[in-house]
Order: sequence, then structure tokens, then C-alpha cells
Amino acid sequence: MNRFDYVRAGTVEEAVQAIASGANARFIAGGTNLVDLMKYNVERPGRLVDITRLPLDRIEEQDGGLRIGALVTNAAVAYDGRVEDRYPVLSSAILAGATGQLRNAATTGGNLLQRTRCYYFYDEGTPCNKRLPGSGCGAIGGVNRIHAIFGTSDQCIATHPSDMCVALAALEATVRVAGPSGERTIPLSEFHRLPGDEPERDTTLGADEIVLSVDLPAEGFAGHHTYLKLRDRLSYAFALVSVAAVMELEGKTIKAARFALGGVAHKPWRNEEAERMLLGKPATRETFSAAADRVVSEAKPQSENGFKVELARRAIVRALEQAAAGTPQSQSDKRIA
Ligand SMILES: Cc1cc2nc3c(=O)[nH]c(=O)nc-3n(C[C@H](O)[C@H](O)[C@H](O)COP(=O)(O)OP(=O)(O)OC[C@H]3O[C@@H](n4cnc5c(N)ncnc54)[C@H](O)[C@@H]3O)c2cc1C
Ligand code: SF4
Repeated sequence: MNRFDYVRAGTVEEAVQAIASGANARFIAGGTNLVDLMKYNVERPGRLVDITRLPLDRIEEQDGGLRIGALVTNAAVAYDGRVEDRYPVLSSAILAGATGQLRNAATTGGNLLQRTRCYYFYDEGTPCNKRLPGSGCGAIGGVNRIHAIFGTSDQCIATHPSDMCVALAALEATVRVAGPSGERTIPLSEFHRLPGDEPERDTTLGADEIVLSVDLPAEGFAGHHTYLKLRDRLSYAFALVSVAAVMELEGKTIKAARFALGGVAHKPWRNEEAERMLLGKPATRETFSAAADRVVSEAKPQSENGFKVELARRAIVRALEQAAAGTPQSQSDKRIA
């Protein structure tokens, strides 16, 4: 690990000033991702800006929805009564990730900005355009079982690893950020980006901006939702494919529906055309299969992850069926007997 300075910000303004200091500074919140990356020499900040004392640790009512401060821990979000009652898909997604200890330390802002779990990204001895732009991509034609099947580029095929963000995509949350020129909001769908020819950039957040909060809209789809996570082990593993599905039904007819996929792209993956195919249709396996077929028709698998295409298709159908069937659907209900 390289030597670095440490400063603690007392206000958001101080944090923004410190990050713009030119010392290759990084914010540190829970530290559960950043410190690992520093130990692997993937991140080499000259300065750490500790933001843990900023007043961004509350969940507040906001325009009929909820404003989740960037420093609210993953555990505090998942177990907040308002989130459990009104946005259960978010609780469920968070509880499907990491472990209790990690969720107690990890923050909302840090979860949004956690970096890919591509093996090559963590291994200094291999080429990786995300870690070292222009060095190549070890995963293309290499070991790529866990990699993306949608939205890849010839520079990077990494996936975004967060569970929380998949639920936020289905809920159409927004991210409130602040920088030297003030505050702005970014729809979750535009916060994470595809790799294109700049795979080193995971998000559209400016280098001098801080995440202040994630804002949830009023509609939480508490009646019909699911977060389905498929992985190699039942706990302590990242998703091979996950699906957050939310729905509103009128009788057996679908009035509104959204679904987002995790583990398959550089960002939570939505296909709005497939979602529109559900509207006004009966909530049946045939309806869900047609939408799933539409999504996977755009898949471009790599040498080792062709299995993800069929896995994603089946996961979409199953998640939509679970959402249509209604609650309760806690993670513990999903244990394999
Ligand atoms: C063993 C292990 C298993 C895991 N399993 C899962 C899993 O199954 N599913 C899952 O979703 N996640 C999983 N995680 C990842 C975990 O959720 C993240 O490490 C965590 O959410 C990061 O939050 P943090 O507060 O610790 O971020 P930090 O490590 O402090 O920061 C991460 C990044 O975010 C930036 N940052 C933090 N806060 C802000 C802010 N407010 N504004 C701007 N930038 C900010 C930092 O500069 C850094 O670049 C796992 C992690 C570990 C170590
Ligand atoms: S997939 Fe992306 S993160 Fe992984 S080696 Fe290639 S460039 Fe690096």
C-alpha cells in the first residue's frame, strides 16, 4: 500500500474542496471496498478524505418518497421500517449482498460506487483497461465466466457488482450529488455507465463531486416485488444473474411493471421495450417469457459465460412470477431446503 495523507471533512463544502485538492484524493466512507483496492495497489490515492462525520446519515421523508443519506449504512437502510414497508424490494436486495458485518460498515454512497469484481482488475500482473487504460483486457478471451453479456465494448466486459443498485434501478431512484458548482440530481439509470472506450470511468459522477443521497420516488411497489439473486453459493457471493422486479396488478392484468438485471452488464440492466410488452397483459408465464426472450435476444456472451443467457431468461420469468404472486418474500423465504 502506498503512503497517503488523511483529512477528515467537517462539512460537505470541505469535502468537495479536499477532493479537488489535486492530490489524487479519494473519499472514504465504510472503507470495505476502497481499503481492499488500496491493499491490491489498484487504488493509489495520495489523500484520503474521511467523510464519515458529514451529516448524511439520515433517512428522511421527501416529496412522498424517502431520501437516504449517502452515509446511511446498508444495514440501516435494509432494516428501516419505512423501507421494509414501502420499498421491500430494496431491503431484499441489500440483504442478499455481502454479510451482516459488511452491511453494518458499508454505506449507501460507497455501495453505489463499489468497483467491479473482475479478477484481472484486482491483479496488477495482468492487463486491464479499467485499472490501467490502454493495457488491454485480460478477460476478453480469458477467464470470463462472471462477466457481462450486455453492453460490453472491445475494451472491457466487466459487470457492476452491486445488489442494491439493481433494486434502485427498478424503483427509478435518483442520486443527488454536490460539486464545486452546486448540487445536481442524476437518474439512477444514468449514474452508472457502459464501458465504451473509457472503461476506467464507472459512473457519470464528476471526480470533484460527492454523493449526498439516494432519493426514492413515492411508488415503492410494496404489493408485488421480488429480488432474485442467482450465484455460486447461497451467501457471501456476488450475483451471476440477479433480477429486481416490481409490478402493479389490476386483477390479473399488469398495470405497471419494471425489472432490472444485475451481474450481466457494467450497470444495472433494463430493457424498457421488454417492460412495455408486459403492460395490459395477463400476468402469466407466457407473458413473462415473451418479455424475457426480448431481453436476451440482445445478449452477446463471451467465451465462457454463454450459460448466463439462459440463466438470465429463466431468472426474469421466475422473478416476474414471484412478483406477480405478491408478498411476503423476504430473503429468508428463499433459502434452499
Ligand atoms: C467480502 C465482500 C463481499 C461483498 N459482497 C457483496 C454482495 O454480495 N453484493 C453487493 O452488492 N456488495 C457486496 N460487497 C460490496 C460492498 O457492498 C461494498 O464494499 C460497500 O457497499 C462499499 O461501501 P463503503 O461505504 O464501504 O465504500 P468505501 O469502500 O468507503 O468506498 C467505495 C468507493 O466509493 C467512494 N465513495 C464512498 N462514499 C462516497 C460518497 N458519498 N460520494 C462519492 N464517493 C464515495 C469511495 O471513494 C470509493 O471509491 C462485498 C464486499 C466485500 C468486501
Ligand atoms: S473486463 Fe474490464 S475490468 Fe476486467 S480485465 Fe477487462 S478491462 Fe479490466
